[in-house]
Amino acid sequence: MGEKIWLSSPHMSGNEQQYIKQAFDTNWVAPLGPNVNEFESSIKTYLKQDVHVAALSSGTAAIHLGLILLGVSKDDEVICQSKTFSASANPILYQGAIPIFVDSEEETWNIDPEQLERAIKDRISKGKKPKVIITVHLYGMPYKVAEINRIAKHYEIPVLEDSAEAFGSLYNGQKCGTFGDISILSFNGNKIITTSGGGALIAKNKELKDKAIYLATQARDKAVEYHHTEIGYNYRMSNIVAGIGRGQMTILDEHVKSRRANYKFYRDALKDFDSISFLDEMDGSFSNRWLTTILTESFKERECLRLALEKENIEARPLWKPMHMQPIFEKYPSYVNGVSEDLFEKGLCLPSGSNLSNSDLERVTNSIINCNVNV
Ligand SMILES: *Cc1c(COP(=O)(O)O)cnc(C)c1O
Repeated sequence: MGEKIWLSSPHMSGNEQQYIKQAFDTNWVAPLGPNVNEFESSIKTYLKQDVHVAALSSGTAAIHLGLILLGVSKDDEVICQSKTFSASANPILYQGAIPIFVDSEEETWNIDPEQLERAIKDRISKGKKPKVIITVHLYGMPYKVAEINRIAKHYEIPVLEDSAEAFGSLYNGQKCGTFGDISILSFNGNKIITTSGGGALIAKNKELKDKAIYLATQARDKAVEYHHTEIGYNYRMSNIVAGIGRGQMTILDEHVKSRRANYKFYRDALKDFDSISFLDEMDGSFSNRWLTTILTESFKERECLRLALEKENIEARPLWKPMHMQPIFEKYPSYVNGVSEDLFEKGLCLPSGSNLSNSDLERVTNSIINCNVNV
């Protein structure tokens, strides 16, 4: 059997250890220091917008602080895209708030404007206007930003943009991670760049960023003694971890190129398979292709492919299981149209790391081509 091919594994540039060494040499072994500042400013430069970046311990922490900054507290309702990773929704429960799940549309697999508006109207008619809308660019594919922003603006509800999977993606030429009232990134081990674990909160003004850092460092008020008027968190990024981030920023665009090349490779190699389809970009959108995903025609076919790959020591995974189907979340209201459940049954994520070789990719496509669905 060949060596294990992972879904998405860390890919270092070679520059990371130099920044970590600097941190050791200068004894900045703490959740602050030059690497943190430089990592934040390189993200800001990359995003090419007037934004303010706070490096944090995880993307989940960034979502949690984002909800707090947008005023979410106990019993508030928060709309969340149902088709996502649970980290998008868990922080709603940390705040004692109520998640309201909204299904996807078929063009991007992200939050459906029609269902979103239906949900907002219905929640308002039941007596509560949702406090925040959490949107997600799944697998790096930008959601319908213009439509969603129009609705959010109309009902005056702020957007928390979960761009954990979409660092390097663009919508109408603008970088994902700059579309929300607050946006977040993740640098977990399987993301397009990684710091081993980490995240960032992206705010539109310096006051919000400063407030995020204040909350992330135990909400310590300005006083000689330790004085606290608010609940604090220990969510700041460490200066060691930020050193990895600085190295990773030097090759982010190369990672985007490689992942897009993976997508193209799969697409070309499987073009004669009528039962397998791919997700195209909409006009004006550019996906980092964090993961290449395919849609089969049935649950049976998807499982057959997944098991065939597993047998060849190749990791492939079903698409995210919608939050409204999860035991922890199923009791909350949801506005569904069947799209995310159907995608969950028939969809598969293929190995997509920026460090895959052509022979790795061939191993994957050969396993798919050799798989006899009708056995
Ligand atoms: C990875 C991920 C997160 C969470 O980020 P962490 O850094 O792992 O906490 C949130 N949302 C989505 C969609 C993700 O894929």
